Amino acid sequence: MGIFDLIIIGAGPAGITAAVYAARKKMKFLVISKDIGGQTAWSGDIENYTGYQFITGPELVSKFEEHMKKYNIPLRENETAVEVSKKDVTIYVKTDKGEYETKTVIVASGKRSRELGVPGEREYKNKGLTYCATCDGPLFSNKDVAVIGGGNSALDATIQLMSIANKVYLVNIAPDITGDPVMKEKIERDNKVIIMNSSQVITVQGQKMVTGIRVKKNGQEKILSVQGIFVEVGLIPNSDFVKGVDKNERGEIKVNSYNRTNVPGIFAAGDATDVPEKQIIIAAGEGAKATLEVFKYLSRLK
Ligand SMILES: Cc1cc2nc3c(=O)[nH]c(=O)nc-3n(C[C@H](O)[C@H](O)[C@H](O)COP(=O)(O)OP(=O)(O)OC[C@H]3O[C@@H](n4cnc5c(N)ncnc54)[C@H](O)[C@@H]3O)c2cc1C
Repeated sequence: MGIFDLIIIGAGPAGITAAVYAARKKMKFLVISKDIGGQTAWSGDIENYTGYQFITGPELVSKFEEHMKKYNIPLRENETAVEVSKKDVTIYVKTDKGEYETKTVIVASGKRSRELGVPGEREYKNKGLTYCATCDGPLFSNKDVAVIGGGNSALDATIQLMSIANKVYLVNIAPDITGDPVMKEKIERDNKVIIMNSSQVITVQGQKMVTGIRVKKNGQEKILSVQGIFVEVGLIPNSDFVKGVDKNERGEIKVNSYNRTNVPGIFAAGDATDVPEKQIIIAAGEGAKATLEVFKYLSRLK
């Protein structure tokens, strides 16, 4: 197998786009990923990926796959990177199935949503329960919805939903909202929003789709009738396995505008990084940029 020019970890929009660019640069490279598509595969309707006014997540992923096949991209699917580390000039990628040596790596391992961990949550995911208000909010026009959380992302989701939904419950486990006061004031002024502090979600209920949530407040339980639930209790970057690189307080890998980390040869792209916005088109663009930077880095090594 020998030493690779580049190993890309992750096959979401960032990793797949990085791979297409690597194939076009005729690098000796490999993609290692747990799955194909990443978070995009969980997304219901996508209306903000340029060129497609409307496409579902699974459809967009199959377009990405077709694109990869055209370039015969070498892919190890169902393989998980467990450690990336650099010794001298070589980068070692350990996985659950083997070990590889490479001159460069692009970490494109994305994020996963923090779950509430309550019964019904997994069953109704994408059946009324979602983790992305930016993406799925417009599907709940004039419906009653609940946003779960009390930090900035929950407030942001609530503000977006105020202009879409009929009624928005903000269900917050803490005694007060911890997010930005300006956003908090905006929400408090809107009579569509019902703020429920010190309230814990017990179960998600539904038939084919979500019909409500059971919430506990001061020892009393009640059911809120809603058609949409937006879980906004945080996202976790898949970055623990990357050793020696600087990360921010959220665990996101710090990159500069060239997708370089503090470790020469280790690059990162997409949701696993501290790039400000987390969207498919942004992750794809960052993946392209990372490979072009890797190409320049390799040229300088020669
Ligand atoms: C429900 C939902 C709906 C969304 N809807 C939209 C939308 O409508 N429009 C929009 O623009 N954005 C949307 N987003 C956001 C968008 O999906 C992400 O910003 C984008 O997918 C990030 O791409 P990525 O490649 O950086 O990471 P991801 O998509 O998270 O992909 C990461 C990849 O890395 C793999 N991986 C992770 N860890 C490892 C490891 N240790 N070893 C090997 N492989 C690993 C994963 O299996 C996956 O293939 C949505 C997100 C969610 C959760």
